[in-house]
Amino acid sequence: MLATSTSATPEAARFRRRLMAWYRENGRHGLPWRLTRDPYAVLVSEVMLQQTQVERVLPYYSAWLERWPSFAALAAASPADVIREWRGLGYNRRALNLHRLAVAVISDHGGELPPSAATLRKLPGIGPYTAAAIQSFARDQRIAVADTNIARVLARALFGTPTGREVPAGALSDAADALLPSREVRHHNLALMDLGALVCGSRAPRCGECPVARLCAWKAAGYPAGKTTSAPAPRFEHTARFARGRIVDALRAAPATAAELAAMLPAHHAARIGHYLQALEKDVLIAPAADGLWSLPPRPR
Ligand code: SF4
Repeated sequence: MLATSTSATPEAARFRRRLMAWYRENGRHGLPWRLTRDPYAVLVSEVMLQQTQVERVLPYYSAWLERWPSFAALAAASPADVIREWRGLGYNRRALNLHRLAVAVISDHGGELPPSAATLRKLPGIGPYTAAAIQSFARDQRIAVADTNIARVLARALFGTPTGREVPAGALSDAADALLPSREVRHHNLALMDLGALVCGSRAPRCGECPVARLCAWKAAGYPAGKTTSAPAPRFEHTARFARGRIVDALRAAPATAAELAAMLPAHHAARIGHYLQALEKDVLIAPAADGLWSLPPRPR
């Protein structure tokens, strides 16, 4: 079984060798954001890929870069245009954060993303994962990246648990650091990500096709169940996210009154229209306009 404490063990070296051999044959090398090292393009892809499938992101990514190919172009856009372009991707706050980030990069950082992961994390919408992804995928720095897919692979292969939730805090990132190779770290991260996405899926891992199956602690232990259980998710139509998305969608087309917006929602959401409008205004995704109307946010003065 694979040791988790150091990258220098023969098992760790074997793990990396098998992973990379698999990746060379099976990795998703043609994804457009993997063919560039432009930090702006990598950032756009990472923000779009948060909570959204690769296939859905592909057309949005190309359209976005065609319309706004740089931080300067995006910073000059209006928040309303950015929210309109995001239509269909969901989690609209990501679009606004990307816009705010572009404005901050132009006004405070001379048009370039700051160099360190710690400074990156101070920008709107950038958490530890996105900061590490930019450092690795755009700048080839020796840093471990741990998205959901990678965390799942490492939890299973190294710790023998079905997900990262059962692994003590900090241990997963320590293990990810310890497993880093001395060279080609970017490809190592991408290979783990692809293994999690294509083979070691959350529901039905295809261990028969897995290059590290013989080293996998979870498989060796007979796939023990995790300790944590999550409550079943409510139907999407019953969530606040659904109602908020419908409201923003309507305002993408034209300003509307609260009554008009309530009328296009199911009754249980219509009763909460004031609450939704308040929350969206707080997030600066919408703004009150003249004559009792609501609209997408105006350009800041
Ligand atoms: S052997 Fe199965 S569970 Fe283990 S890493 Fe491979 S696909 Fe995942």
